[in-house]
Amino acid sequence: MEQNGKLLPDIHCHSNLSHDGSDTPLEMARRACETGVSHFALTDHIEVDEFGYEEWDYFSAIAKFKTAYEQISSQFGDKMNVYFATELGQPLYDLPAAEKILADNDYDFIIGSVHRTEHYEHMSKIPDTVFDRKRVIKEYFDEMLALVEWGKFSTLAHMTFLMRFVNIDTPSGLVCDKAKRTQAVFDTYKPIIDKILTTIIKNGIALEANSSGYRRGLNDPMAGAPFLKRYRELGGKMVTVGSDAHQLCDVAGDVPRTLDLLRGLGFTEICVFNKKEPQFVKI
Ligand SMILES: [Zn+2]
Ligand SMILES: [Zn+2]
Repeated sequence: MEQNGKLLPDIHCHSNLSHDGSDTPLEMARRACETGVSHFALTDHIEVDEFGYEEWDYFSAIAKFKTAYEQISSQFGDKMNVYFATELGQPLYDLPAAEKILADNDYDFIIGSVHRTEHYEHMSKIPDTVFDRKRVIKEYFDEMLALVEWGKFSTLAHMTFLMRFVNIDTPSGLVCDKAKRTQAVFDTYKPIIDKILTTIIKNGIALEANSSGYRRGLNDPMAGAPFLKRYRELGGKMVTVGSDAHQLCDVAGDVPRTLDLLRGLGFTEICVFNKKEPQFVKI
């Protein structure tokens, strides 16, 4: 189903069922529908390492995801394709808990994410030293590799998320310009990046093109163009697209630009997930 014959996928959005979301699930869905979104998913956060924190009751939130999905589906399901979904952060920090949530909920679509690493709980607070920059990037890609080797999710979220927060040490010097960090990290960390990309291809996991990279100053979606290009060279065909909106005004933001980039890289399809099965849509 495409609204007015137009493809406008946004299968990565957050409502106030996420600790950092602003608007209700129905408000987000209404905005998506009015914007002309053709494929829509709320992917509210389950940050597995934060279970037990007092600031946010994950279990109450998770219990509300299904009702929200059903309401959205009944109100907007005749205009948009709607999916039951979540964004699962750091599942390896408590694997039994993560696997129980997945067993208890029949998600159509699961985004797998790395939002923190062993020594860096808050990406916005990484000390700007050579030691910390190198250690956080190593931990980030090592933990991402472990995540995709586990592999019980649909798409690898925003592979270049960390580049929003850290300058990149390269053999030719320090790269501070946000718009140049994606290429710099790709050139400097090629072996582990290739390993992650070959593993997602082998395990049937998609790669996300998260359009919020543009509004965060990276001049690229996340994963960025060099990563998407390399993924395609290695045989990857499954790309999901989402805005990572946490408020109404960002729904579908920069998605058309992201689709243009994908076309320019030679992709002819993107994918969405229904009952965890990939379905391809021409772009
Ligand atoms: Zn995320
Ligand atoms: Zn997100």
